[in-house]
Amino acid sequence: MTDLRELYQELIIDHGRHPRNFKELVGANFTKDGFNPLCGDRLTVYFRTEGEIISEVCFQGSGCAISMASASLMTESLKGKTVAQAKKLFEAFHNTVMGVSIPDETVLGKLLVLKGVADYPARVKCATLAWHTAMGAISGTQDSISTE
Ligand code: ZN
Repeated sequence: MTDLRELYQELIIDHGRHPRNFKELVGANFTKDGFNPLCGDRLTVYFRTEGEIISEVCFQGSGCAISMASASLMTESLKGKTVAQAKKLFEAFHNTVMGVSIPDETVLGKLLVLKGVADYPARVKCATLAWHTAMGAISGTQDSISTE
């Protein structure tokens, strides 16, 4: 288990330091700001959808390694999914980091690396900020997203 844990940690550190899809998305049709006052994580999520399909997801912002890694992994996970699939994946991810369901790798894919967050309740908001923001964006919520 130690090796697996180290691998997870490496992936989180890697995505935290070198987030993927970290840019403003030109031509985004959904944009949303999110803020986690508990930790000071701040980000903007950009979506481009074509019909029901999410064709591009990008983000920008600053915050702790968990928030940046989670946002980075999220952008990779959501690209190519339908909006309905994205909402389902959010539910599965949320339940995993809240520790209320047994993580299913076939559903979560790479997001599984964040399951350890369930042991650190204070970091759950860091891990879910990008997701709450993203769901707010594709649901067409007008307000900006705050975890508080
Ligand atoms: Zn944080």
